[in-house]
Parts: sequence; C-alpha cells; structure tokens
Amino acid sequence: MTTQTPGTTPDQVSDFYDVYNSLLRKYWDDNFHFGYWLDDTDDSSVAVATDRFTDIMIGKLPVGPGARVLDVGCGIGKPAVRLAQKTGASVVGISINQQQVDEGNARAAAEGLAGRVSFRPANALELPFEDGSFDAVLAFESICHMPRLPALREMSRVLKPGGRIALTDLIKLDDSDGSAADAGFETQALPRYSDYPALTAAARVEIDELTDVSAHTNRTYAAMAEGITRGTDEIVEQFGPGVVNVLQAVAAPLGPSASVGCLIMAGHKAG
Ligand code: SAH
Repeated sequence: MTTQTPGTTPDQVSDFYDVYNSLLRKYWDDNFHFGYWLDDTDDSSVAVATDRFTDIMIGKLPVGPGARVLDVGCGIGKPAVRLAQKTGASVVGISINQQQVDEGNARAAAEGLAGRVSFRPANALELPFEDGSFDAVLAFESICHMPRLPALREMSRVLKPGGRIALTDLIKLDDSDGSAADAGFETQALPRYSDYPALTAAARVEIDELTDVSAHTNRTYAAMAEGITRGTDEIVEQFGPGVVNVLQAVAAPLGPSASVGCLIMAGHKAG
C-alpha cells in the first residue's frame, strides 16, 4: 500500500513496512495497493477491488508460460502469485523489506509455485540483475516510494528491448495544490499525469497507455478509513494512541476532496 511514508530512503521505507505489514494485512488486504471500483454503485469488497486492480495490471503485461517477469516492490507477494497463476509466467519479486520477502516465499510455497515464483530482498534503485534479463516488469504502487527517474532507468535497464513495463503511480490531481500529498513524501513531490511522458522518455520507455484511474481508485480512502475504524481499539492497544493519527493522516489525502489520484502507465523499452 502506498502511504505517507515517513522518510524516503530505502531503509526508512523498510522500517515503515516492518510496522505496517501486519496492520495492512489485518485491516486492508494482502494486496498492498489501491482498490479499483467499477463505478459509484459498485460495492465490491476490498479483497475483490484490489484483486480486480491486479487483474487489470496483468492485462497490461501480455506474458505467458516461459516469460520471466520482475515484480519491483512486491509487497507480500499476492499480486506476483496471481500473475504467475493467471499467465503461467515465472515471476521474481523484490522488496526492500525482508519480512515481505519471507511472507512472499511462504505464499508461493503454499500455492505450490515455489519453482516459478520467488522473492528476494533488493533495492529497486540497484537491481541485482543483468541488463536485458526480463521479458516484462511490473511495478505496482511501488515507484511512489522511490526517486522516479532512477527507479525507471533501473527497470528499463533489466528489460529486454521491446519488453513490457506496467506500473501504477500516485499523482497530484490537477485541481489540487498537492500540499497534502507532498507533506508525506518529504523529498519526492508527487508527479502530475502530464509529467509522465517526459519521465518515461528519459528512461527509454515508450508509453503505450497512460490512464488516469483516480475515479476508480478514489473509494480506497473510505474503505481504508472503515478498516481503521474497525481496528482502532486493537491498533491503539498494540501501538499506543499516537498511531491512530498517523493512520488517519495516511488515508486523508485520498479523501472525498481527493488531492491524490492514481495512474496506470503501460509501455515498452525502446529497441
Ligand atoms: N506491489 C505490491 C506492494 C506495494 S507496497 C502490492 O501491490 O501488493 C510498495 C512496495 O514497494 C513494498 O513492497 C516496498 O517494500 C517496496 N519498495 C519501496 N521502495 C523500495 C526500494 N527502494 N526497493 C525495493 N522495494 C521497495
């Protein structure tokens, strides 16, 4: 899940998830990303809406058996396992957070996929892979924790020429001043939708699709607030009263007067 990360170095992101992994699992979902709702009348659960978003992203990566996919910022592995199950591809997931890697590997083993899906600790800004070693890259709500251009360049480097990349990112909406979002991302201001073409071009990625899906993901805020409300007593008991303010601040920018939206970028590495 992308949130207002207190600090932006990879180590700080990892510390953040050491605390939030269990909270997200309990009060959100094993998918650490936004939900995707079809329209205002769609009352899908968080589990359904987040899996739906995964399926949309899988659809942006036309891969099949034999393909090797890198999942950059894999969370606890739910999207990677689903990707492998639905496409037959092999998936390597990386995360800066060791707990997530361990949980991901346990999930792959439990699903009988340990031979085809694996997770390892790595920094997305220094990927431990050869140039051109993947057919496709998925970065599902993870680049928002990173300096974007260096991260995209690394993803592009490890892709084969012509290889597909699909990612989601948080964006500043045009009618907002972005202040709520920027407050949490200390050194990394959120981009706007209109910033993406220049960003991707600088990483030798050609855009095939750039879609603002904010209208579909906006309900994430209300759904997250519900989870926090449901868990408040337990959360306070575990972490002390201060944690509730932090959780609410995390969800606030996604609120009805949302200043933070979400986009999907699908593209390929220039040949
Ligand atoms: N894609 C997953 C998780 C999204 S949460 C899902 O959809 O469920 C963001 C993820 O990015 C976390 O796994 C976090 O550890 C990872 N991440 C953030 N910065 C990173 C970095 N510099 N290197 C590797 N992983 C990073």
